[in-house]
Amino acid sequence: SACEITGAQAIHPGYGFLSENATFVQALEDHGITFIGPTAEHIRIMGDKITAKETAKSLGIPVVPGSDGGVPDLAVAKRVALEIGYPVIIKATAGGGGRGMKVAAEEAALESAFRTARAEAKAAFGNDEVYIEKYLQRPRHIEIQVFGDGKGHAVHLGERDCSLQRRHQKVFEEAPGPVISPQKRAEIGRICAEAVAKISYIGAGTIEFLYEDGEFYFIEMNTRLQVEHPVTEAIFGVDLVREQIRVADGYPLSFTQDDLVINGHAIEVRINAERLPTFAPCPGKITHYHAPGGLGVRMDSALYDGYTIPPYYDSLIGKLIVHGRDRPEALMRLKRALSELIVDGIDTTIPLFHALLAEEDIQTGNYSIHWLEKWLARDAG
Ligand code: ADP
Repeated sequence: SACEITGAQAIHPGYGFLSENATFVQALEDHGITFIGPTAEHIRIMGDKITAKETAKSLGIPVVPGSDGGVPDLAVAKRVALEIGYPVIIKATAGGGGRGMKVAAEEAALESAFRTARAEAKAAFGNDEVYIEKYLQRPRHIEIQVFGDGKGHAVHLGERDCSLQRRHQKVFEEAPGPVISPQKRAEIGRICAEAVAKISYIGAGTIEFLYEDGEFYFIEMNTRLQVEHPVTEAIFGVDLVREQIRVADGYPLSFTQDDLVINGHAIEVRINAERLPTFAPCPGKITHYHAPGGLGVRMDSALYDGYTIPPYYDSLIGKLIVHGRDRPEALMRLKRALSELIVDGIDTTIPLFHALLAEEDIQTGNYSIHWLEKWLARDAG
């Protein structure tokens, strides 16, 4: 209705709940309104994690060992877990946002993990189908940015390392990944670009992997722009949103694979309205806001003095992105920018990043997906 009233010809969904809603995209397609993003069909395929994994496999993308599709009952769960070996992770087919995932370290824990994952999946997504994967012990979360023109051409824009997570939610992201070599990047990047080209994918997409001992294991594909896309924009000097609008309007990609050369290093930290150390949501009124600036500093936020953060949504209120010639420079710039940033009136995650920057493992890039939770637990104890 909003499009009909205003005469808008296209919708950019951002990266919120409309960005991966196939029903919404279908409604637009049916009314001749352009969706700036992939087709409803591609969203559907990738929105169902089992279908996504099968599709990825058939396109030549390496996947995590696990069940072939959904696991109907505990007996099957036990058989699969025995085959792939413990620990295993039970995941909701319809999952997202880190919900509906349970780890079982051994057979004794399987029944409860299986039941809890199903119940959580049912409550969160209205669908209790789950599947099983090998639980990787110390992987990094590495995701590949891809971009297709919808006509069978696609490129990759390297990786982002998003291993620093709390409750499977990213808090700190960087590009390029501190442990990914140019060869590894070219190899996995080519596989991903070819895969999305094969399905004539249109627009921005991210293929997420766990990376352990030099191997990539597909976990899911996000058929949208991601929260952490600015680190990729920074190192490649491209505007991904502009590119999304261009391809949606039928234009070709404005860059080739050879044009995409990495320049320096970028880091994003997520500023959440949360009270440490529990990370409890902390909505309320901003009494004073001051954004950092200067060379290589980007602050993406809609905050202003007097703004009231409503309690109804995600607690992300800003993203601070820094870009430097190399990783040490980006880290230094992040430290400086964080100390300039002022958000008064509510509690935020800013102090968390000050503390993280003082850690040697963060300075050297030596962390896996479990590092942050372990560090937070140690901090509490
Ligand atoms: P969601 O869609 O809910 O974000 P993902 O499948 O992307 O779920 O997984 C989110 C995070 O959960 C990963 O980044 C990783 O930290 C953890 N995870 C998922 N699958 C596995 C696995 N097989 N082994 C270890 N950790 C995993």
